[in-house]
Amino acid sequence: MSRSEILFSNAQKHIPGGVNSPVRAFKSVGGAPLFIKHAKGAYVIDEDDKRYVDYVGSWGPMILGHGHPDVLDAVRRQLDHGLSFGAPTAMETEMAELVCSIVPSMDMVRMVSSGTEATMSAIRLARGYTGRDTIIKFEGCYHGHSDSLLVKAGSGALTFGVPSSPGVPAAFAQHTLTLPYNDIEAVRETLAKAGKDIACIIVEPVAGNMNCVPPVPGFLEGLRELCTEHGVVLIFDEVMTGFRVALGGAQAHYGVTPDLSTFGKIVGGGMPVGAFGGKREIMECISPLGPVYQAGTLSGNPLAMAAGLTTLKLISRPGFHAELTDYTSRLLQGLQDRADAATIPFVTTQAGGMFGLYFSGADAIQTFGDVMACDVERFNRFFHLMLDGGVYLAPSAYEAGFTSIVHGEAELKITLDAAEKAFAQLK
Ligand code: PMP
Repeated sequence: MSRSEILFSNAQKHIPGGVNSPVRAFKSVGGAPLFIKHAKGAYVIDEDDKRYVDYVGSWGPMILGHGHPDVLDAVRRQLDHGLSFGAPTAMETEMAELVCSIVPSMDMVRMVSSGTEATMSAIRLARGYTGRDTIIKFEGCYHGHSDSLLVKAGSGALTFGVPSSPGVPAAFAQHTLTLPYNDIEAVRETLAKAGKDIACIIVEPVAGNMNCVPPVPGFLEGLRELCTEHGVVLIFDEVMTGFRVALGGAQAHYGVTPDLSTFGKIVGGGMPVGAFGGKREIMECISPLGPVYQAGTLSGNPLAMAAGLTTLKLISRPGFHAELTDYTSRLLQGLQDRADAATIPFVTTQAGGMFGLYFSGADAIQTFGDVMACDVERFNRFFHLMLDGGVYLAPSAYEAGFTSIVHGEAELKITLDAAEKAFAQLK
Protein backbone atom coordinates (compact mmCIF):
# COMPACT_ATOMS: atom_id res chain seq x y z
CA MET A 1 0.00 0.00 0.00
CA SER A 2 1.18 3.52 -0.71
CA ARG A 3 1.48 6.03 2.13
CA SER A 4 -1.43 7.98 0.62
CA GLU A 5 -3.59 4.83 0.78
CA ILE A 6 -2.63 4.22 4.43
CA LEU A 7 -3.20 7.86 5.36
CA PHE A 8 -6.55 7.86 3.55
CA SER A 9 -7.67 4.77 5.38
CA ASN A 10 -6.71 6.35 8.75
CA ALA A 11 -8.31 9.67 7.83
CA GLN A 12 -11.67 8.02 7.28
CA LYS A 13 -11.91 7.00 10.93
CA HIS A 14 -12.45 10.54 12.19
CA ILE A 15 -13.03 12.72 9.13
CA PRO A 16 -16.19 12.14 7.04
CA GLY A 17 -14.96 10.49 3.84
CA GLY A 18 -11.40 11.19 4.97
CA VAL A 19 -11.49 14.73 3.57
CA ASN A 20 -12.43 18.22 4.66
CA SER A 21 -14.03 19.06 1.30
CA PRO A 22 -15.85 16.41 -0.77
CA VAL A 23 -14.28 16.60 -4.23
CA ARG A 24 -10.83 15.91 -2.76
CA ALA A 25 -11.90 12.31 -2.06
CA PHE A 26 -11.40 11.03 -5.66
CA LYS A 27 -14.88 9.52 -5.35
CA SER A 28 -15.68 10.26 -8.96
CA VAL A 29 -12.38 9.04 -10.49
CA GLY A 30 -11.88 6.23 -7.96
CA GLY A 31 -8.86 5.27 -5.83
CA ALA A 32 -7.23 6.96 -2.85
CA PRO A 33 -6.52 10.68 -3.08
CA LEU A 34 -2.91 11.83 -3.07
CA PHE A 35 -1.92 13.09 0.35
CA ILE A 36 0.27 16.10 -0.31
CA LYS A 37 3.18 16.95 1.95
CA HIS A 38 4.87 19.70 -0.02
CA ALA A 39 4.36 21.91 -3.04
CA LYS A 40 6.81 24.11 -4.88
CA GLY A 41 6.41 26.06 -8.11
CA ALA A 42 4.36 24.08 -10.64
CA TYR A 43 4.58 20.83 -8.63
CA VAL A 44 2.92 19.05 -5.75
CA ILE A 45 4.83 16.28 -3.96
CA ASP A 46 2.87 13.53 -2.25
CA GLU A 47 3.59 11.49 0.87
CA ASP A 48 5.17 8.80 -1.32
CA ASP A 49 7.66 11.41 -2.60
CA LYS A 50 6.16 11.38 -6.08
CA ARG A 51 6.18 14.71 -7.91
CA TYR A 52 3.32 15.83 -10.14
CA VAL A 53 2.81 18.79 -12.47
CA ASP A 54 -0.11 20.47 -10.74
CA TYR A 55 -3.15 21.71 -12.68
CA VAL A 56 -5.34 21.99 -9.58
CA GLY A 57 -3.41 24.82 -7.94
CA SER A 58 -5.37 24.40 -4.70
CA TRP A 59 -8.49 24.80 -6.89
CA GLY A 60 -7.37 28.13 -8.25
CA PRO A 61 -5.48 30.32 -5.78
CA MET A 62 -1.92 29.32 -6.73
CA ILE A 63 -1.64 31.45 -9.86
CA LEU A 64 1.99 32.31 -8.97
CA GLY A 65 2.82 28.65 -8.43
CA HIS A 66 3.35 27.18 -4.97
CA GLY A 67 5.54 28.84 -2.38
CA HIS A 68 6.37 32.07 -4.20
CA PRO A 69 9.25 33.52 -2.10
CA ASP A 70 7.75 37.04 -1.89
CA VAL A 71 4.40 35.73 -0.67
CA LEU A 72 6.06 33.51 1.93
CA ASP A 73 8.26 36.44 3.08
CA ALA A 74 5.24 38.73 3.45
CA VAL A 75 3.51 36.14 5.63
CA ARG A 76 6.69 35.56 7.69
CA ARG A 77 7.09 39.31 8.27
CA GLN A 78 3.49 39.58 9.43
CA LEU A 79 3.92 36.61 11.79
CA ASP A 80 6.20 38.70 14.01
CA HIS A 81 3.42 41.24 14.51
CA GLY A 82 0.68 38.81 15.52
CA LEU A 83 -1.85 36.46 14.01
CA SER A 84 -5.16 38.28 14.48
CA PHE A 85 -6.34 41.47 16.18
CA GLY A 86 -10.08 41.74 15.43
CA ALA A 87 -9.43 45.44 14.82
CA PRO A 88 -8.73 47.39 11.63
CA THR A 89 -5.26 47.31 10.07
CA ALA A 90 -3.60 49.55 7.46
CA MET A 91 -3.18 46.53 5.19
CA GLU A 92 -6.95 46.12 4.80
CA THR A 93 -7.26 49.62 3.33
CA GLU A 94 -4.34 48.93 1.00
CA MET A 95 -6.05 45.71 -0.09
CA ALA A 96 -9.38 47.49 -0.68
CA GLU A 97 -7.69 50.24 -2.70
CA LEU A 98 -5.84 47.74 -4.84
CA VAL A 99 -8.90 45.53 -5.52
CA CYS A 100 -10.99 48.60 -6.42
CA SER A 101 -8.27 49.87 -8.75
CA ILE A 102 -7.94 46.48 -10.51
CA VAL A 103 -11.57 45.39 -10.90
CA PRO A 104 -13.76 47.65 -13.08
CA SER A 105 -17.04 47.41 -11.12
CA MET A 106 -15.68 47.94 -7.61
CA ASP A 107 -16.26 51.13 -5.63
CA MET A 108 -16.15 49.40 -2.24
CA VAL A 109 -15.19 45.95 -1.05
CA ARG A 110 -15.53 43.87 2.10
CA MET A 111 -13.23 40.98 3.01
CA VAL A 112 -14.56 37.66 4.28
CA SER A 113 -12.94 34.24 4.81
CA SER A 114 -14.23 32.10 1.91
CA GLY A 115 -15.96 32.24 -1.45
CA THR A 116 -19.09 30.79 0.14
CA GLU A 117 -19.27 33.67 2.59
CA ALA A 118 -18.73 36.16 -0.23
CA THR A 119 -21.62 34.87 -2.39
CA MET A 120 -23.94 34.34 0.58
CA SER A 121 -23.31 37.90 1.76
CA ALA A 122 -23.67 39.42 -1.72
CA ILE A 123 -27.06 37.73 -2.09
CA ARG A 124 -28.26 38.95 1.29
CA LEU A 125 -27.13 42.43 0.29
CA ALA A 126 -28.96 42.25 -3.05
CA ARG A 127 -32.12 41.13 -1.25
CA GLY A 128 -31.78 43.86 1.37
CA TYR A 129 -31.10 46.52 -1.25
CA THR A 130 -34.01 45.59 -3.54
CA GLY A 131 -36.48 44.40 -0.89
CA ARG A 132 -37.12 41.35 -3.10
CA ASP A 133 -36.64 37.68 -2.12
CA THR A 134 -36.22 35.58 -5.24
CA ILE A 135 -32.86 34.99 -6.90
CA ILE A 136 -31.90 33.53 -10.28
CA LYS A 137 -28.93 31.21 -10.72
CA PHE A 138 -27.88 28.91 -13.55
CA GLU A 139 -27.80 25.14 -13.77
CA GLY A 140 -24.31 23.71 -13.19
CA CYS A 141 -22.98 26.91 -11.60
CA TYR A 142 -21.68 26.56 -8.05
CA HIS A 143 -21.63 29.50 -5.71
CA GLY A 144 -20.58 27.86 -2.47
CA HIS A 145 -22.64 25.74 -0.10
CA SER A 146 -25.00 28.26 1.52
CA ASP A 147 -28.64 27.17 1.63
CA SER A 148 -30.16 29.31 -1.13
CA LEU A 149 -27.40 28.33 -3.54
CA LEU A 150 -27.40 24.55 -3.21
CA VAL A 151 -30.08 24.17 -5.84
CA LYS A 152 -29.04 22.45 -9.06
CA ALA A 153 -25.45 23.32 -8.19
CA GLY A 154 -22.19 22.34 -9.88
CA SER A 155 -18.80 21.15 -8.51
CA GLY A 156 -19.02 18.47 -5.79
CA ALA A 157 -22.81 18.71 -5.76
CA LEU A 158 -22.71 17.68 -9.41
CA THR A 159 -19.92 15.14 -9.07
CA PHE A 160 -21.89 13.33 -6.39
CA GLY A 161 -25.22 13.62 -8.16
CA VAL A 162 -26.81 15.66 -5.38
CA PRO A 163 -28.35 18.52 -7.30
CA SER A 164 -29.86 19.92 -4.17
CA SER A 165 -28.87 18.82 -0.71
CA PRO A 166 -30.95 17.38 2.11
CA GLY A 167 -30.88 19.92 4.92
CA VAL A 168 -31.89 22.79 2.68
CA PRO A 169 -35.50 23.67 3.61
CA ALA A 170 -37.87 23.62 0.64
CA ALA A 171 -38.97 27.10 1.66
CA PHE A 172 -35.43 28.40 1.00
CA ALA A 173 -35.06 26.59 -2.31
CA GLN A 174 -38.40 28.05 -3.39
CA HIS A 175 -36.77 31.45 -3.61
CA THR A 176 -34.08 30.20 -6.00
CA LEU A 177 -34.98 29.96 -9.69
CA THR A 178 -32.56 27.95 -11.80
CA LEU A 179 -32.26 28.67 -15.52
CA PRO A 180 -30.09 27.12 -18.26
CA TYR A 181 -26.61 28.67 -18.61
CA ASN A 182 -25.92 30.55 -21.84
CA ASP A 183 -29.65 30.85 -22.62
CA ILE A 184 -30.52 34.54 -22.57
CA GLU A 185 -34.04 33.95 -23.89
CA ALA A 186 -34.91 31.92 -20.78
CA VAL A 187 -33.79 34.87 -18.65
CA ARG A 188 -35.75 37.34 -20.77
CA GLU A 189 -38.96 35.28 -20.43
CA THR A 190 -38.54 34.80 -16.68
CA LEU A 191 -37.92 38.48 -16.03
CA ALA A 192 -40.85 39.47 -18.24
CA LYS A 193 -43.11 37.38 -15.97
CA ALA A 194 -41.49 37.81 -12.56
CA GLY A 195 -38.97 40.68 -12.88
CA LYS A 196 -40.40 42.70 -10.00
CA ASP A 197 -39.85 39.77 -7.59
CA ILE A 198 -36.23 39.12 -8.52
CA ALA A 199 -33.52 40.52 -6.24
CA CYS A 200 -30.52 39.37 -8.22
CA ILE A 201 -29.06 37.19 -10.91
CA ILE A 202 -25.88 35.45 -9.83
CA VAL A 203 -23.72 33.94 -12.53
CA GLU A 204 -20.25 32.53 -13.02
CA PRO A 205 -19.16 34.69 -15.97
CA VAL A 206 -17.17 31.65 -17.12
CA ALA A 207 -18.79 28.53 -15.66
CA GLY A 208 -16.01 26.65 -13.87
CA ASN A 209 -17.97 24.14 -11.84
CA MET A 210 -19.34 22.07 -14.71
CA ASN A 211 -15.85 21.75 -16.15
CA CYS A 212 -15.19 25.04 -18.00
CA VAL A 213 -17.91 26.63 -20.14
CA PRO A 214 -17.24 30.16 -21.43
CA PRO A 215 -20.21 32.47 -22.04
CA VAL A 216 -21.55 32.56 -25.59
CA PRO A 217 -21.36 36.01 -27.21
CA GLY A 218 -24.27 38.13 -26.01
CA PHE A 219 -25.05 36.14 -22.83
CA LEU A 220 -23.31 38.38 -20.29
CA GLU A 221 -24.25 41.51 -22.26
CA GLY A 222 -27.88 40.35 -22.30
CA LEU A 223 -27.86 39.75 -18.55
CA ARG A 224 -26.54 43.28 -18.03
CA GLU A 225 -29.27 44.83 -20.18
CA LEU A 226 -32.10 42.79 -18.65
CA CYS A 227 -30.97 43.43 -15.07
CA THR A 228 -30.85 47.17 -15.70
CA GLU A 229 -34.29 47.07 -17.32
CA HIS A 230 -35.89 45.18 -14.41
CA GLY A 231 -34.01 46.74 -11.47
CA VAL A 232 -32.32 43.41 -10.71
CA VAL A 233 -28.84 43.33 -9.12
CA LEU A 234 -26.36 41.57 -11.41
CA ILE A 235 -23.76 39.58 -9.44
CA PHE A 236 -20.72 38.11 -11.16
CA ASP A 237 -19.33 35.29 -9.06
CA GLU A 238 -15.66 35.74 -9.86
CA VAL A 239 -14.39 33.42 -7.12
CA MET A 240 -12.72 31.36 -9.85
CA THR A 241 -12.37 33.82 -12.73
CA GLY A 242 -11.28 36.84 -10.67
CA PHE A 243 -7.66 37.92 -11.26
CA ARG A 244 -7.24 34.82 -13.47
CA VAL A 245 -9.18 35.19 -16.73
CA ALA A 246 -7.66 38.69 -16.84
CA LEU A 247 -6.22 40.91 -14.10
CA GLY A 248 -9.63 42.61 -13.79
CA GLY A 249 -11.43 39.25 -13.99
CA ALA A 250 -14.06 38.12 -16.47
CA GLN A 251 -15.78 41.52 -16.26
CA ALA A 252 -12.63 43.15 -17.68
CA HIS A 253 -12.11 40.35 -20.22
CA TYR A 254 -15.67 40.45 -21.60
CA GLY A 255 -16.27 44.18 -20.99
CA VAL A 256 -19.50 43.70 -19.01
CA THR A 257 -19.85 45.46 -15.67
CA PRO A 258 -21.90 43.79 -12.91
CA ASP A 259 -23.39 45.60 -9.91
CA LEU A 260 -21.73 43.32 -7.37
CA SER A 261 -18.86 40.84 -7.65
CA THR A 262 -17.63 38.07 -5.41
CA PHE A 263 -14.06 36.80 -5.06
CA GLY A 264 -12.12 34.05 -3.33
CA LYS A 265 -9.10 31.88 -4.15
CA ILE A 266 -6.47 34.23 -5.72
CA VAL A 267 -7.51 37.22 -3.59
CA GLY A 268 -6.11 35.30 -0.60
CA GLY A 269 -2.99 33.97 -2.33
CA GLY A 270 -3.57 30.53 -0.76
CA MET A 271 -4.95 31.76 2.58
CA PRO A 272 -8.66 31.53 3.52
CA VAL A 273 -10.02 34.76 2.00
CA GLY A 274 -13.08 35.87 0.07
CA ALA A 275 -14.39 39.30 -0.83
CA PHE A 276 -17.52 40.94 -2.19
CA GLY A 277 -18.05 44.43 -3.45
CA GLY A 278 -19.29 46.69 -6.18
CA LYS A 279 -21.43 49.79 -6.57
CA ARG A 280 -21.13 52.28 -3.72
CA GLU A 281 -24.89 52.79 -3.50
CA ILE A 282 -25.44 49.07 -2.87
CA MET A 283 -22.40 48.50 -0.65
CA GLU A 284 -23.48 51.35 1.62
CA CYS A 285 -26.41 49.16 2.70
CA ILE A 286 -23.98 46.89 4.59
CA SER A 287 -23.57 47.14 8.38
CA PRO A 288 -22.35 49.38 10.05
CA LEU A 289 -23.27 51.93 7.33
CA GLY A 290 -26.61 50.33 6.52
CA PRO A 291 -29.10 47.78 7.87
CA VAL A 292 -27.93 44.60 6.04
CA TYR A 293 -25.94 42.60 8.60
CA GLN A 294 -22.67 40.88 7.75
CA ALA A 295 -19.63 40.23 9.97
CA GLY A 296 -16.59 38.00 10.63
CA THR A 297 -14.18 37.46 13.54
CA LEU A 298 -11.28 36.68 11.20
CA SER A 299 -12.33 38.86 8.24
CA GLY A 300 -9.36 40.81 6.88
CA ASN A 301 -7.01 38.59 8.90
CA PRO A 302 -3.49 40.08 8.75
CA LEU A 303 -1.67 36.91 7.62
CA ALA A 304 -4.28 36.35 4.93
CA MET A 305 -4.08 39.98 3.79
CA ALA A 306 -0.27 39.74 3.59
CA ALA A 307 -0.49 36.72 1.27
CA GLY A 308 -3.34 38.12 -0.82
CA LEU A 309 -1.97 41.63 -1.20
CA THR A 310 1.47 40.37 -2.23
CA THR A 311 -0.10 37.98 -4.74
CA LEU A 312 -2.25 40.71 -6.31
CA LYS A 313 0.75 43.05 -6.60
CA LEU A 314 2.86 40.38 -8.30
CA ILE A 315 0.19 39.44 -10.83
CA SER A 316 -0.38 43.13 -11.68
CA ARG A 317 2.85 43.33 -13.66
CA PRO A 318 2.30 44.01 -17.38
CA GLY A 319 2.26 40.86 -19.48
CA PHE A 320 1.47 38.47 -16.62
CA HIS A 321 -1.93 37.35 -17.92
CA ALA A 322 -0.77 37.23 -21.54
CA GLU A 323 1.94 34.74 -20.49
CA LEU A 324 -0.47 32.69 -18.42
CA THR A 325 -2.96 32.58 -21.29
CA ASP A 326 -0.26 31.67 -23.78
CA TYR A 327 0.92 28.65 -21.75
CA THR A 328 -2.68 27.51 -21.35
CA SER A 329 -3.34 27.80 -25.10
CA ARG A 330 -0.20 25.84 -25.96
CA LEU A 331 -1.14 23.17 -23.42
CA LEU A 332 -4.61 22.78 -24.94
CA GLN A 333 -3.34 22.78 -28.53
CA GLY A 334 -0.79 20.12 -27.58
CA LEU A 335 -3.44 17.95 -25.94
CA GLN A 336 -5.81 18.39 -28.90
CA ASP A 337 -3.09 17.42 -31.39
CA ARG A 338 -2.30 14.26 -29.46
CA ALA A 339 -5.95 13.31 -29.05
CA ASP A 340 -6.52 13.88 -32.78
CA ALA A 341 -3.49 11.76 -33.63
CA ALA A 342 -4.96 8.95 -31.53
CA THR A 343 -8.43 9.58 -33.09
CA ILE A 344 -9.98 10.15 -29.66
CA PRO A 345 -12.96 12.56 -29.75
CA PHE A 346 -11.77 15.42 -27.57
CA VAL A 347 -12.72 19.07 -27.09
CA THR A 348 -11.08 21.78 -24.99
CA THR A 349 -12.27 25.14 -23.69
CA GLN A 350 -10.26 28.04 -22.32
CA ALA A 351 -10.65 31.40 -20.64
CA GLY A 352 -7.24 32.90 -19.85
CA GLY A 353 -5.57 30.68 -17.25
CA MET A 354 -8.48 28.27 -16.77
CA PHE A 355 -9.44 25.41 -19.04
CA GLY A 356 -11.76 22.46 -19.65
CA LEU A 357 -11.05 19.00 -21.12
CA TYR A 358 -13.91 16.97 -22.59
CA PHE A 359 -14.08 13.51 -24.06
CA SER A 360 -16.74 14.47 -26.54
CA GLY A 361 -17.41 14.49 -30.25
CA ALA A 362 -19.33 17.78 -30.03
CA ASP A 363 -18.19 20.77 -32.09
CA ALA A 364 -18.38 23.05 -29.05
CA ILE A 365 -19.31 22.89 -25.38
CA GLN A 366 -21.79 25.62 -24.51
CA THR A 367 -24.51 24.18 -22.31
CA PHE A 368 -24.99 22.03 -19.22
CA GLY A 369 -26.40 19.37 -21.56
CA ASP A 370 -23.21 19.42 -23.66
CA VAL A 371 -21.18 18.82 -20.50
CA MET A 372 -23.43 16.00 -19.33
CA ALA A 373 -23.15 14.27 -22.71
CA CYS A 374 -19.37 13.78 -22.31
CA ASP A 375 -17.72 10.44 -21.66
CA VAL A 376 -17.03 10.59 -17.92
CA GLU A 377 -15.68 7.03 -17.78
CA ARG A 378 -13.05 7.91 -20.35
CA PHE A 379 -12.11 11.02 -18.40
CA ASN A 380 -11.70 8.94 -15.25
CA ARG A 381 -9.32 6.56 -17.02
CA PHE A 382 -7.46 9.50 -18.55
CA PHE A 383 -7.14 11.07 -15.10
CA HIS A 384 -5.40 7.98 -13.67
CA LEU A 385 -3.16 7.52 -16.71
CA MET A 386 -2.07 11.16 -16.39
CA LEU A 387 -1.44 10.66 -12.68
CA ASP A 388 0.77 7.67 -13.55
CA GLY A 389 2.60 9.97 -15.96
CA GLY A 390 3.25 12.58 -13.25
CA VAL A 391 0.40 15.00 -13.99
CA TYR A 392 -2.21 15.99 -11.40
CA LEU A 393 -5.52 17.05 -12.99
CA ALA A 394 -8.67 17.94 -11.05
CA PRO A 395 -10.15 14.58 -9.92
CA SER A 396 -13.52 15.04 -11.60
CA ALA A 397 -14.82 15.48 -15.14
CA TYR A 398 -16.83 18.46 -13.88
CA GLU A 399 -14.04 20.68 -12.58
CA ALA A 400 -12.03 23.30 -14.46
CA GLY A 401 -8.23 23.11 -14.67
CA PHE A 402 -5.85 25.91 -13.67
CA THR A 403 -2.40 26.92 -14.84
CA SER A 404 0.18 29.04 -13.03
CA ILE A 405 2.78 31.49 -14.21
CA VAL A 406 5.60 29.05 -13.40
CA HIS A 407 4.25 26.35 -15.71
CA GLY A 408 6.82 26.42 -18.53
CA GLU A 409 8.52 24.32 -21.20
CA ALA A 410 9.56 21.50 -18.86
CA GLU A 411 6.03 21.12 -17.47
CA LEU A 412 4.50 21.31 -20.93
CA LYS A 413 6.74 18.46 -22.09
CA ILE A 414 5.94 16.24 -19.09
CA THR A 415 2.21 16.89 -19.59
CA LEU A 416 2.13 16.27 -23.32
CA ASP A 417 4.35 13.16 -23.12
CA ALA A 418 2.03 11.74 -20.46
CA ALA A 419 -1.03 12.66 -22.56
CA GLU A 420 0.37 10.99 -25.68
CA LYS A 421 0.78 7.71 -23.80
CA ALA A 422 -2.59 8.11 -22.10
CA PHE A 423 -4.50 8.72 -25.35
CA ALA A 424 -2.79 5.69 -26.92
CA GLN A 425 -4.00 3.52 -24.04
CA LEU A 426 -7.52 4.92 -24.20
CA LYS A 427 -8.01 3.84 -27.80
N1 PMP B 1 -18.12 30.41 -6.23
C1 PMP B 1 -17.41 29.76 -7.16
C2 PMP B 1 -17.55 30.16 -8.59
C3 PMP B 1 -16.56 28.72 -6.79
O1 PMP B 1 -15.87 28.07 -7.73
C4 PMP B 1 -16.45 28.37 -5.42
C5 PMP B 1 -15.54 27.25 -4.94
N2 PMP B 1 -14.86 26.54 -5.85
C6 PMP B 1 -17.20 29.10 -4.49
C7 PMP B 1 -18.03 30.12 -4.93
C8 PMP B 1 -17.11 28.79 -3.02
O2 PMP B 1 -15.87 29.17 -2.54
P1 PMP B 1 -15.28 28.49 -1.21
O3 PMP B 1 -15.01 27.06 -1.54
O4 PMP B 1 -14.03 29.29 -0.93
O5 PMP B 1 -16.28 28.66 -0.13
